[in-house]
Formats: sequence, C-alpha cells, structure tokens
Amino acid sequence: MNCPAAEGAFAADRLDGPDPADLRSVGSALGALFPAFDDYLAANTGALLPAYRRGTVASEPLDLPIEGAGLDAVVAELAAAVRAGCRIGASGATCYINTGATTAAAAAQAAVAVAGGQRYYPHAFNALESTGLHWLAALCGFPAGSSGVFTSGGSSANLVALGAARQWAFEQRGLDASALGLAGTPRARIYASPFAHRTIHRAAAVLGLGRDAVVEVSDDGCGHIDPRALDDRLASDRRDGIVPVAVVGIAGTTDTGAVDPLDEIAGIARRHRAWFHVDGAYGLVAAASPTLRPRFRGMEKADSWIVDPHKWLATGLGVGAVYVRDGELHRRAFMEGHASYLEGSFGSDGQPSSQFDSFGGDWADLGVELSAPPRGVLVWAVLRESGRRGVVARVERHVAFARHLAERIRAEPRLELLADPELSIVCFRHRYEGRGANQANAALLRRLRRETPFAPSSTVVNGTFAIRSCYINPRTTLADVDGLVDAVLRLG
Ligand SMILES: *Cc1c(COP(=O)(O)O)cnc(C)c1O
Repeated sequence: MNCPAAEGAFAADRLDGPDPADLRSVGSALGALFPAFDDYLAANTGALLPAYRRGTVASEPLDLPIEGAGLDAVVAELAAAVRAGCRIGASGATCYINTGATTAAAAAQAAVAVAGGQRYYPHAFNALESTGLHWLAALCGFPAGSSGVFTSGGSSANLVALGAARQWAFEQRGLDASALGLAGTPRARIYASPFAHRTIHRAAAVLGLGRDAVVEVSDDGCGHIDPRALDDRLASDRRDGIVPVAVVGIAGTTDTGAVDPLDEIAGIARRHRAWFHVDGAYGLVAAASPTLRPRFRGMEKADSWIVDPHKWLATGLGVGAVYVRDGELHRRAFMEGHASYLEGSFGSDGQPSSQFDSFGGDWADLGVELSAPPRGVLVWAVLRESGRRGVVARVERHVAFARHLAERIRAEPRLELLADPELSIVCFRHRYEGRGANQANAALLRRLRRETPFAPSSTVVNGTFAIRSCYINPRTTLADVDGLVDAVLRLG
C-alpha cells in the first residue's frame, strides 16, 4: 500500500525552539492566586457577589488572540475571575443541588491537576481512585462485589446504569443490545415517578429507547411513586408485549427530597422481572446516617445505583458514581472491544515494575469515557478528612437545618410549608391574598437572589409555585437558615 506522505515544510527553528507555554514553577503560579482564593471566600460568605458583568476579567475579546499574552497575564486574569467568583459555593446559596468544593477537595483538585494525569496505569492517584470507589460504596451501603466507576456526574451515571439495565432486559430475550443495537426488538419502557430527574429521560433517548419510553407513573401526592399504579402499569404493559427495561426508585427527589418506597418497588420490579435502579444522585449519601437509614430500606435490593459525590460530599463539580451489582453484565453493556493501540502494551510478570506495565482499573469498559481524571481522589480526600462519622454529622446537620426551617415556616402565619422535608430540601411560599400568588412568590424569589445573600431556587409542588431551599453546602450555618426566613418576611 502506497499511503500519501505528509505535505508542507516548516520554518527551520520549529525543530529545536521552545514550547510556547511557560512551564516555570506551578507552585509560584498557584501561589500568586492564593490571596484571590481567600478574598473570594470572604466575599462569598454571608455577603452577596453581584451578577457578573462582562469585562471584569481584563480580556474577554471575542476574537481568538493571535499572539499569546503569557503566563503572568493568565494568572492575573484568573485572580480577577476568582474574585468575581460564582455564588454556587456561597453559604446562602441553597438553590438546586449544587455546591462548591470543600478546602480538602480543592487541594485534591489542585494535586490532580498537577500530578494526577490519567485515572489509568498503576500510580498513586490510580490507587486513590480505587480507594474512593470502595469507600463510597461502603458509605452508601452498596453490596460488596458490585462494580463501580466514577463518571462526570449523575447524568452519565444514570446513562450507564440504564445501559446495563437495557443490556440485561434484552439478554433475557436472547438479544445482545450493545453489540447489535435495537433494530427489530420489541418496544421497551422505563418506569419512574413524575419526579424522576430528566436525565433518566435523556438516558432513554441516548440508549435508543426514546424519551417517551419513560413512563411517569402517578404519585401519592407527597412526592413518592404510587406502588399500586406502578404494579398495574407493569402488568398491563407486559400483557401488551412491552419489555420492562427498568423500574427507577428515587432516593431523594430533586424537587422535594422525597424518598420513594424502595422496598416495595424492589418487590414489584422482581415480580415483573424488571431491573431495579436507584437514583440516589442527591440523597443516597444520607443512607450513611443510622437515623435516616430506615427511609432507604430496600435500596440494597437494587441492581444498580448512582450517587453524586459532587452534591452532598462537596467534592466540587464533575464527580458522579455508578455501581452495578452484576459486574460481568456491566462490562458487556459498555465494553469498547479490541483496540490494537492498547492490546499488548501491558502485562508484566507479577508486580508491575513501571507505571505502564498495567492498565490499572478496567473502567474503560464500565462507562462512556476512556481518558478521565482520577475523580475518585476528590472522594478519597473528602472521606479521608471527615470519615464516615463526619459525613453523617454533615448530613444530619443539613437535615436538621431543613427541619428547623420547616418549623419556623409553620410558626409564621404569613408563610406556608408546601412539603415536609424528608431530607434537606424545604418547599414553601409566602401567602398572598387572591390569585397571582404564584407570580408574587416568583417575584419574591428574584428579589431574594438579587438583594440578599440568600439564593434558593424554585419548583412546583402540587400545582403551586414553591420557593425551594436545599441544604448540602458545608459552609452553610444556622444563621443562613434563619436569615432566609427573615429575608422572606422582610421582602414579602
Ligand atoms: C442532580 C441529579 C441528577 C443529575 O446529576 P448531574 O450530576 O447534575 O448530572 C440525577 N438525579 C437526581 C435525583 C439528581 O438530584
């Protein structure tokens, strides 16, 4: 075969000139940012970072620069960006299920950026990745022997879990869906409550089942799936020849933090020969608390679980995790298959004598990413710092915040509690006379976020607009909880 050679000639100095990046001490570049880190934390605690106005960071031209500005300019502009900051990590930001990294996690992030490289090959960070996976499973109570992998977040974790469910459901019918696709297979569905996170629907779309394959079974009026309705729907769909791919139990809904009756769902899924997946992106960390554990009864019967360390464990964004009980099935669903560029590179006689003697973990075949940072190092750092006892203390503190907020709302005639907190989410509203109460509460929420350090989010509870406060931020204090109520009363 006569393959064409590369064309074009370079200037003579290309060959022995320096790299354009300034590769001086990383420590001094990071050190130059340290004052900005502390300024950010001070300005973001109990105070109000304003909305970002473009141009605050010196150069935001739309055109790609032709000439580079150099390392010092980058560090100076990063310092400006750090000071302008993001309110997600603020002590009063209780919106969505988002928070910033703890100090230990930020340090771990820096360590990974400098020396963590890749999650593969046996090296220190690879070992911590494995430890992080193992500790997280022990914390949440996943069965020993399950296979797990870190992902970019709950979205891809749900995709992987439901991909394993899809593999299983069609294998039951003699079909290998990951090898052959779904052409000619019978219709398939996934069952969940109306409060299932939309990433379940997107996973169904990506897996070729279609968003509409997610059946939103009716709820009990308190945020949980109605088990009778689930049972009935599975029975009638099976009579119609539809393949039940998975039943999803939510261990802490995004709207109100309700935990589905997991034990009952487990029984129903088994009876109908459907995979049982638990979406615990937010809530499963709370299963570590002996006091809260009974709420999660039955979760240990699931076939797959997800949990997001970047939520309650505050690792900083970009860390989800998925666990599948049957590791071989997990691999069949996600394996890449043979690749010449990897095969034969590894293999040592006994102990690896170089970091390149082994691939390390087998995670490439358990998810949708090959290269990835060792995200488990962040999980390791958080659990190493605080231990199980520390995590339980944080979760219980946050749930106590939610109960305290609910009590204060109940005691205020001008406020109305819309959902009793099961975990650390509280949904409430200000009472307004007449119609237009939903719009008035939406306006109140906007003023809170604009004028006060308190930034809840919103949702709809049984048709009513709700101000929604979610406690997962380690930096939040009781003063922030009381401050929110006081601000709502003042502005309402
Ligand atoms: C947050 C969340 C997700 C999605 O996770 P991301 O990390 O945002 O992708 C899925 N399910 C539930 C219940 C969640 O709360």
